[in-house]
Amino acid sequence: MTDRQRISRLWRDYIWPQKGRFILALFFMALFAAATAGLLYVVQIIIDATENLKPGTANAEALQYAKIIIPVLLGVALITGASDFFQRILANALALNTVAKMQKQMLRSAHESDYASFARDTTGNLISKFTFDVKVVSDALIRVLSNLIKDVLTVIFTIGAMLYYNWQLTLVLAVFLLAMWPIVELSKKLRGSAAEVQAHTGKLTSDLKESFSGAQLIKTYGLEAHEDERLGREFDERIRLFLKLVTQQAWVEPILTFIAGLALAGIFTFGFWQISKDVTTPGAVAAVLVGVFTLSPRLRALGTLNNAIQEGLSALSRIFDVMDQRGEIKDEPGATTVGRAKGDVALNNVSFTYEDGSPALRDVSLDAKAGQTIALVGPSGGGKSTIINLIPRLYDAQTGQITIDGQNIRGLTLESLRRNIALVSQDVTLFHMSIADNIGLGDLSADRDAIEAAAKAADAHGFITALPEGYDTVLGEDGAGLSGGQKQRLSIARAILRDAPILLLDEATSALDAESEAKVQSALEKLTEGRTTIVIAHRLSTIQKADKIYVLDKGAVVETGTHASLSKKRGGVYAKLKGLQS
Ligand code: ADP
Repeated sequence: MTDRQRISRLWRDYIWPQKGRFILALFFMALFAAATAGLLYVVQIIIDATENLKPGTANAEALQYAKIIIPVLLGVALITGASDFFQRILANALALNTVAKMQKQMLRSAHESDYASFARDTTGNLISKFTFDVKVVSDALIRVLSNLIKDVLTVIFTIGAMLYYNWQLTLVLAVFLLAMWPIVELSKKLRGSAAEVQAHTGKLTSDLKESFSGAQLIKTYGLEAHEDERLGREFDERIRLFLKLVTQQAWVEPILTFIAGLALAGIFTFGFWQISKDVTTPGAVAAVLVGVFTLSPRLRALGTLNNAIQEGLSALSRIFDVMDQRGEIKDEPGATTVGRAKGDVALNNVSFTYEDGSPALRDVSLDAKAGQTIALVGPSGGGKSTIINLIPRLYDAQTGQITIDGQNIRGLTLESLRRNIALVSQDVTLFHMSIADNIGLGDLSADRDAIEAAAKAADAHGFITALPEGYDTVLGEDGAGLSGGQKQRLSIARAILRDAPILLLDEATSALDAESEAKVQSALEKLTEGRTTIVIAHRLSTIQKADKIYVLDKGAVVETGTHASLSKKRGGVYAKLKGLQS
């Protein structure tokens, strides 16, 4: 997409839908510009009036001037102030609404895109697009509105007034515009430095996030000093990058002040000469002088506007990229909606390779009849998690078929497929919300009674009610404050509430104490009852009860059987694993 296309999309999808606000903002900006230029008129009449006020002028005549000047002055001030107030609020509202709409669309696309896309970008980077990039776009938008429209109008009106009062003097001043080129050069450098700062901010955000979420590892391995030093270097780098940017920015002011000094000298020399020749009045010269002061901040803003626009456009391109990413995994044309499945699950000759080219499954076939428990075991990297991810179509297998009740899952709607599946994984995902709401994620329509019944079945009711706020206790990040076993029971309660016929279970590897282990185990038994369960087994207890065990190694099924039959197989992978665990 080119910048032009991005701008027209911004206009069509975000600005034009707010046309009422936009047009009103334009109106107040034009009013502001006209009132600002009106100041030149006020100055001219004041100065030329004082010219007529010689010592000895009658009071009545002096009062006559005041009667005109004061209302005009106040009127101009009032209009300038009020129009500035309203255009500011309207421009900000326009930008904020644009940004909120973008954030919602980005969020929807991010959630609808494939699971694999989350592995492509770091979380910090993704978050920075939602916060930092969006802010850059909003700032650029406000600047475009206020500089490009309000300031350009002000510049036009002011120059018009200056030409009207004294066109020769105004033309002389135009020469000083040529002195602006160092500013143009400087802006190019500024743009590069700003991009560096921006990139570094993204990196710092991810590093900080990583460092905090890895607190457990950092503390136990005594890596605090190492992390402090690593991040400390990042902070120092930030100083360096910012100082470079600030130094470049700092040049702008002195250069402009110098140019302004030259321009003033020009005005006085040429203006006084004109007054002495009686071709102009002091009021007209003063009006041009005020014009210079009105113009200079606007011209300066216009000088750096391009930077803001460029930064805004590059942020906009990142935002649109997030918005436009489309999931490959979606409902196929004519996909059927299934109701509650019976629960037969089968993989037929499935092979799967990850995007990076690492083959994870090779010609894997397995099947689980409704209500059965099948266990996946084998060394790490064997492909167990990959199988679990293929069943709800978090990834699509390149070859082979996965069926539920004999139907290819690719022919089902994603929504109805996933409604038949519950997942309990070893890393329990708990959100920063109440315990009841966390369990309720299993079935968003469930009421409090159903949630409590699920918690009871998962043997979690006891510890939940022992908490001061019971089911309304708001959990910390990742369930901080709960034990490993408690977190697992919450996730089991969530799956019980979901009441899906197919259960995908990734048993926790982390050791629990005997009592928690027993509770989790009994909760799991209640959960798996009457459901087809595919479990990644790390403990022998689950394996013994499994109807069938598949041993996976390097992406292929190397042995199949029951605990009893596989244990007997001398020299088999399973027998070896069993030997290691006992
Ligand atoms: P297991 O669960 O048995 O430990 P996995 O299914 O996680 O095995 O992994 C199977 C293979 O696929 C491994 O070689 C692993 O490195 C690779 N793999 C797993 N996840 C990804 C991923 N997101 N991207 C690329 N390769 C992956």
